[in-house]
Amino acid sequence: MSKPEKIVAIKGMNDILPADAPLWELFENTAETILKSYGYQKIVTPIVEETGLFKRAIGAVTDIVEKEMYSFTDSMNGDELTLRPEGTAGVVRAVIEHNMVYDGPKRLWYKGPMFRHERPQRGRYRQFFQFGAEAVGFTGPDIDAELIMLCRRLWDDLGLQNVRLELNSIGNAEERLRHRADLIAYFESHADILDAEAQRRLHSNPLRILDTKNPAMQEMVNGAPQLLSYLGEESRAHFEGVKRLLDRNNVQFTVNPRLVRGLDYYNRTVFEWVTEELGSQGTICAGGRYDPLIETFGGKATPGVGFAMGIERIIELMKGLGEPAQPGQCDVYMVHQGEEAQVQAFILAERLRDAGLDVVLHCATPTGAGSFKSQMKKADGSGASFAVILGEDEVANNVAAVKSLRGESGEQQQATVAFDAVVDHIVDAIVGGHDHDHDHVHYHP
Ligand code: ATP
Ligand code: MG
Repeated sequence: MSKPEKIVAIKGMNDILPADAPLWELFENTAETILKSYGYQKIVTPIVEETGLFKRAIGAVTDIVEKEMYSFTDSMNGDELTLRPEGTAGVVRAVIEHNMVYDGPKRLWYKGPMFRHERPQRGRYRQFFQFGAEAVGFTGPDIDAELIMLCRRLWDDLGLQNVRLELNSIGNAEERLRHRADLIAYFESHADILDAEAQRRLHSNPLRILDTKNPAMQEMVNGAPQLLSYLGEESRAHFEGVKRLLDRNNVQFTVNPRLVRGLDYYNRTVFEWVTEELGSQGTICAGGRYDPLIETFGGKATPGVGFAMGIERIIELMKGLGEPAQPGQCDVYMVHQGEEAQVQAFILAERLRDAGLDVVLHCATPTGAGSFKSQMKKADGSGASFAVILGEDEVANNVAAVKSLRGESGEQQQATVAFDAVVDHIVDAIVGGHDHDHDHVHYHP
């Protein structure tokens, strides 16, 4: 018989293994705590939506819709479906479908996998995770500033340095239209420098040409007419409002007149948080306003603004800071030998969990639980603060041995404790010895 063929993950789609899970948890816990502290509520939308939703919400002439969507026909009923490439479209659909803003504006956040058929490389995958926020129903610049400032709080709490903010305003549709005419004329006068993609986009999405990564076009693009100088009074006042709040809160930023969003329904504020530490995939968070979007979906005219972060890119920055200082995998590791001791260990482990402790039970093989010595090695490796040991002697005397594995100066103390007093003994010891700091994340370099 030939060897069965190995099945591997889909190209560009990654497993997150237990070794990396603590960093992911740390990111998610920190982000969720911050979002909550600003009054944002969680929303979960399906991973699959009608293809038409994304075509309309993102715009036909964008990288995503042109070439990156995982779209398919449901063979059961012929529905045209797409794995979500981003989170805003689904959230906006849900806001309209459930009439969520009937009693006022809403602050929302989401997280989850997104799918784009791109060329996989560092920081660019086909399944990747985003953490995002959407504030719907707010018109003023204060909410734009709030979204930006909660990002800064997140970088601070995670200990990320060297993340900078780029800011721009892309005005409204009318202002963009006036700019667009001049922009196309400018590009046409430099037709010899335009690459094939730029030529293709010249009349469909010229704004996106400003975003080009082609070095040969940089100088030409730098000299292009700037949208900022086409802003009318209201757009300008909004932008000034955002900048003023950022200034007054000591948020540093640079205005990048070339910063645009490739998506059709963005207006006014756009921003990106970027780092030089990740090579060319340096944008860890991108956001902006999309006031016209909800109305184009048939909803009541409702402004919106949000951002999305690429979690993989942030995790990579966190990895550069070292291993997160985290409590071990568990509080207590249960060691036992003998048939009755195993049953007692089970019972005691449940009681400890009732008291809120994390407990790992040593599991026996068909030939037994192994020597005390080998079990104690596992207990040490588990990161537990205590080992609870049950052997024939302990069972006979209705006691358990409780050994502390993380003594002050590394010494390991062992006590014999009545079986019924073990839970209190350990809870007291853990409560007494803990010194938690919830404000900031700590890393071991
Ligand atoms: P890029 O210019 O890098 O393609 P984008 O404009 O397509 O980015 P957005 O749609 O704004 O990206 O997504 C928000 C964030 O999600 C990005 O800033 C990035 O951090 C992350 N992201 C986007 N696409 C990917 C991907 N394929 N793999 C990993 N992260 C991604
Ligand atoms: Mg992209």
